[in-house]
Amino acid sequence: MNLVDLARPEIQALHAYAAAEQVDHTIRLNANESPPLPTGDSFRRPLNRYPEVRPQRLQAALARRFGCETDRLLVTRGSSEAIDLLIRSFCRAGLDSILTTAPTFSMYRHYAEIQGAEVIEVPASAEHDFAPDTDALLAACKTDTRLVFVCSPNNPTGTMLSRAQLQRLLEQRSGQSAIVVDEAYIEFSDAASATELLSRYPNLIVLRTLSKALALAGARCGAVIAQPPVIQMLSAVQAPYAMATPVVECVEDALRDDRLSLAEQAVAGTVAERERLISAIRAFPFVDRVWPSAGNFFLVRVRDARGLMQHCADNGILLRFFGGALQDCVRISVGSIAENDQLLRTLDTLGGS
Ligand code: PMP
Repeated sequence: MNLVDLARPEIQALHAYAAAEQVDHTIRLNANESPPLPTGDSFRRPLNRYPEVRPQRLQAALARRFGCETDRLLVTRGSSEAIDLLIRSFCRAGLDSILTTAPTFSMYRHYAEIQGAEVIEVPASAEHDFAPDTDALLAACKTDTRLVFVCSPNNPTGTMLSRAQLQRLLEQRSGQSAIVVDEAYIEFSDAASATELLSRYPNLIVLRTLSKALALAGARCGAVIAQPPVIQMLSAVQAPYAMATPVVECVEDALRDDRLSLAEQAVAGTVAERERLISAIRAFPFVDRVWPSAGNFFLVRVRDARGLMQHCADNGILLRFFGGALQDCVRISVGSIAENDQLLRTLDTLGGS
C-alpha cells in the first residue's frame, strides 16, 4: 500500500517548486540574489545566497541520529511544521478527520482547525494513569480519518504508547489511516524509537524534534520520518528554502559527537531531576497526585491549581495550566537543579500557608 494514495488528490498531483539551479563555482545570475555586502558574517554558506532548497548534509546527519535512511526524512521548522504539513497534505477540508487522544498536545487540533479537518478526541482516564485505550481509538476512527496522532511520551501526561499498542493501531488502520507517532520527548524515556518499524508498516509516520533533548528550541528544527514517497510529497508542500542558513549550520554543529554526548549527559540529568522533583512534590500536603512521566515534565493534581500557579508566578516561576479536564492540574517542566530547588522552596512556602 502506498500511503500517498490517502493524501488529498491535488497534493498527490503537486510538483515540487522549480527552484533556481545551485552549482558550486559558478557565477549565479539566476536567482535574483545580490552580491555580498561586507557584513563580516561568519556562516559557511554566504547569507547573500539562498540556502539549499533542502539541506542535504543536515538531512543525512539527522537520518543518522534518528536511525533511518536519508530518503525517509524531511527536515522541518520544528516538529510543529511537520504536523501542519501532514494535516494540510492528508486532510480535505470539511471531509476528512484526524484522531487524537485527550489530553494531548494542542497543536494537532490547532492545525486541523486551520485546515478545516474534523478532530476526533478519545479521552484517556486520569484514574488509569492516562493510558491510551487502543480499542477506543480504533472504535472512534471514521472512514475518512486520515491521521491518528499519538504522542508518546504524551504531552502533558507523560504517558507512553506501548510497542504492542502501536503495532495494533498500525495493523488495524493499514490502508486507511497513517499512524503519526510524535516522539518529541522520547529521549527522556527508556523506549526505543518507532522508526525501527518503518520498513514493516507503510502507514507509520514518526515525528522528531531537536527542541527538547538537544536543547535547541530556538533553532526551530525537527523532522518527519516516513516512506520515501510520503517524504517526497511533503517536500513538495513545504516552502522552498524552508531551513535558514544560520539554523542549518547551527544544527549541523550541534550534531557533532562531542556536543551530542554533552546533550546525552544533560538528558540523564533531567531524568534524575524529574524523579527527584516528583518524589519531593508528592510529599506536599496540597498535592493530591503526581503522575509518573517519561518526558521532561510531569503533571500534578493539587487542591487549588490556579492558586498554585499564582503563588509560583508571584515568586517568578511559571508553570502550565490547561483547564478543561485538567482543571485541578498543573504541568511542571523540569528545570536546572537550581531552578528546581527554587521551585521546591516556593512550594514549601505555599504548603506552610
Ligand atoms: N510535539 C509535542 C508533543 C510537543 O510538546 C511540542 C512542543 N511543545 C512539539 C511537538 C513541537 O515542538 P517543536 O516545534 O519545537 O519541534
